[in-house]
Amino acid sequence: MPEEGVLVVGAGILGLSAAHFLAQRGFPVLVLEREAPLLCTSDKSTECYRVFWPGEEALASLVARSLELLGPFAEAARPRPRGYLYLGEAEGLLSLAQQAPHAGPLRVHPKAATYPRVAEEGMDLLLPGSLGEAFPYLAHLKGKAGLHVRKAGWLSAHGLGMALLEALRAAGGRVVAGEFLGLEREGGRPRYARVRWGEEEALWPFAALVLAPGPGLPALLSALDLTLPVAAEPHFKAWFPDPLGLFPREAPLLIWNEPQEIFAPEEKTLFQGEATLAPLLSLLPPGAHARPEGEGFLALYNPWPQAEAPGACGPTPPPWAGEVALRGLFPILPGLRRYLGARPRVDGGYYVRTPENLPLLGPVAEGVYLLGAFSGYGVMAALGAREALARMVAGEDPPSWARGFRPSRYQDPGYRPQGAAARAQL
Ligand SMILES: Cc1cc2nc3c(=O)[nH]c(=O)nc-3n(C[C@H](O)[C@H](O)[C@H](O)COP(=O)(O)OP(=O)(O)OC[C@H]3O[C@@H](n4cnc5c(N)ncnc54)[C@H](O)[C@@H]3O)c2cc1C
Repeated sequence: MPEEGVLVVGAGILGLSAAHFLAQRGFPVLVLEREAPLLCTSDKSTECYRVFWPGEEALASLVARSLELLGPFAEAARPRPRGYLYLGEAEGLLSLAQQAPHAGPLRVHPKAATYPRVAEEGMDLLLPGSLGEAFPYLAHLKGKAGLHVRKAGWLSAHGLGMALLEALRAAGGRVVAGEFLGLEREGGRPRYARVRWGEEEALWPFAALVLAPGPGLPALLSALDLTLPVAAEPHFKAWFPDPLGLFPREAPLLIWNEPQEIFAPEEKTLFQGEATLAPLLSLLPPGAHARPEGEGFLALYNPWPQAEAPGACGPTPPPWAGEVALRGLFPILPGLRRYLGARPRVDGGYYVRTPENLPLLGPVAEGVYLLGAFSGYGVMAALGAREALARMVAGEDPPSWARGFRPSRYQDPGYRPQGAAARAQL
């Protein structure tokens, strides 16, 4: 039986991050993991980050704080600050930029000559005519614009996760194999975690319990008799080798910001009888994106995510997942058609999310805290989230931006789950 301290359930990037910070602040910390550390959702991410959340200041503050806290882990995380390049109609991109003052100053470029190749802050809107000059591989996108968001890029989620695990151990924390099953109360307050440990079940006392179970969240909420609006959506990504050199190696993350059809009329007739493909034959939402990775590129397009009960860490990719991701990129890089029929490496995980796509970060009972529903941004948010959580565990006020993440928000009769992040595709 462990000594009484903080018990963290889940050794994904969020659980490890919180555990390390709490151990560093002097709490005895034990992390309980039923699989292996860092092998669930945190192993499946695209590893991207952005301080660009149109209409969502709180999420922008969360990620900005995470980047500030990256310092000691920067060597392990190896950030690549190449930015995100959104592509589409100038009007739509301008509107996005105007809703994101946190991303820094907006520079508008009728001509490519004024576009800075390198910039750490702000946004550059390349108007039609200047986009192709600044990015020759996009010259075919006549009449389209590009919004280059600078405080964005990608990093090594694995490197960051492993560094957190090592730092946790160095600070005296431990990870043990076992499954959290439920809570037992004493004197009216949650006091013991019911844990499956090898062949045995045991009751472990805790002073504070942090639940960071990733896709295990819906099942845990039922086990704890908690009602919170969370859904788990399968999201897939595909890595394509690029032997023909069709994907620009120096590209930022490229995102198609327009609705699109991914099948030509003659192709659609071939799939007409296939009920599972029917949604993919209509006009699909914006959001196809890709970036260079190794000797190839990572492609993501999940235009029709359907919530399901997660049975395991990751969903089984449908046979068409890779091709849909590839086709989603054709408006950006039409040459990629040559890879139709190629065999990408496809995997995926769950976006566990609330209706308004804000996380669940805060107490749900005396001494019990949730750190979940981080949807498609848990890697980039992990360091800021742990700081907010640790303050709550220590009985201090969380940063102002974290107040709206508290699970208790749903008990406010005036609370309406809505918000710009709910519409985000990435
Ligand atoms: C395809 C895809 C792309 C993504 N791209 C990005 C991106 O570019 N940038 C970004 O920031 N984020 C991205 N994300 C999101 C990010 O990966 C997640 O938000 C993050 O990894 C969640 O971390 P976690 O620690 O909450 O969950 P996990 O990594 O899933 O860890 C949870 C752990 O809890 C354990 N567990 C669960 N229940 C129990 C229990 N009862 N007892 C013991 N252990 C338990 C599990 O075994 C697991 O190891 C992406 C996600 C997907 C699926």
